[in-house]
Amino acid sequence: MDRTGLLIILSSPSGAGKSTLARRLMDWDRRLRFSVSATTRPPRPGEIDGQHYYFTTPDRFRRLVAEGGMLEHAEVFGNFYGSPREPVEVAMREGRDTLFDVDWQGGQQIRASALGQNVVSIFVLPPSLPELERRLRGRGQDSDEVIAGRMQKSRAEISHWAEYDYVLVNEDLDATEAQMRAILTAERMRRSRQTGLGSFVRTLMEEERT
Ligand code: ADP
Repeated sequence: MDRTGLLIILSSPSGAGKSTLARRLMDWDRRLRFSVSATTRPPRPGEIDGQHYYFTTPDRFRRLVAEGGMLEHAEVFGNFYGSPREPVEVAMREGRDTLFDVDWQGGQQIRASALGQNVVSIFVLPPSLPELERRLRGRGQDSDEVIAGRMQKSRAEISHWAEYDYVLVNEDLDATEAQMRAILTAERMRRSRQTGLGSFVRTLMEEERT
């Protein structure tokens, strides 16, 4: 059945398991597209243009924003970051869903955009703040100072939980993944999103008569 692609917004405080869950969902559904952000910050070693980020200049970024080419954007430490609109629209037309890893501010902007009708937003909570800190440490990616900063920021992020359609407590990874699959499966079946339904039912009724 034809349907419009969804914009799946995934937010959480850092360390709650968002990236892990996003990866698992994309392994589950190969047609799911991850929204690659555009940024004006320089690439780090090993980062590939178009895969990790679309690297661009401040001038081009500003022009895209002015033309409405960004679904959401923000300035962080003097660099711009944003979600380009065009690839999302292409995916939607193909009936493919796009996954966004954005914070609550990005989520608000995408919800308020012209594509907001097709947004499904999911907030991932940690079972507790000590567990969140354990996961950040366990990831082995950040210094103590960075972890302290992330823990500080996590309260602000968590305070926006009620703006989301779905809120999951990521205690057990397999269970949370199963919940996310259930959400996607159900949201895809919504009548408003199955664009081919009208003609399918018409054909169904025609066949009945002959
Ligand atoms: P985020 O993308 O939200 O910052 P990550 O996906 O990087 O978080 O997860 C942070 C760490 O916690 C990773 O080491 C990940 O393997 C681990 N993790 C994620 N979910 C769970 C879970 N349910 N139970 C235990 N560890 C988890």
